[in-house]
Amino acid sequence: MKLTDAQWQQRLTAEQFRVTRLKGTEYPFSGTLLHNDANGTYCCICCHQPLFHSDTKFDSGCGWPSFFAALQGQVRYQTDHSHGMQRTEILCAHCDAHLGHVFDDGPAPTGQRYCVNSVALQFDKQ
Ligand SMILES: [Zn+2]
Repeated sequence: MKLTDAQWQQRLTAEQFRVTRLKGTEYPFSGTLLHNDANGTYCCICCHQPLFHSDTKFDSGCGWPSFFAALQGQVRYQTDHSHGMQRTEILCAHCDAHLGHVFDDGPAPTGQRYCVNSVALQFDKQ
C-alpha cells in the first residue's frame, strides 16, 4: 500500500502521521494501548493489517506496548543508526509504517521485545 505524505496526512491524526510516517516516538507511558490486556489483534493504524496478537503482549515496564513476537510475515526489519545507536527498526510489511524497535532482552519463548508505539496500532477486540 503506497500513498503520498499528503494522502497519509488526510487519513491520520497529526500524532499518528508523525510517528508512523516520520519515524517519531510517542512519549513513554502516554499510549492508550499500553495497559490494554483484552484479547484481540493489534493492527497497523495506517493499513489495518494485523501485526501482533494479544497472546504475545507483556508488560516490559519500558513505557510502550511490548510484544515478544510479531505475526508471521507482517513486520519488516531494518537497521536504524539514528541517535548514535544501532537498533533494529520494525515497520509494517504492507505500508512501511514505522512501528518501533525490536530488542534482544525480551522474555521466553523468543527472547525478543517488540517495543511499539501505541499510536501506530489499532486494537481489534476478539
Ligand atoms: Zn501498515
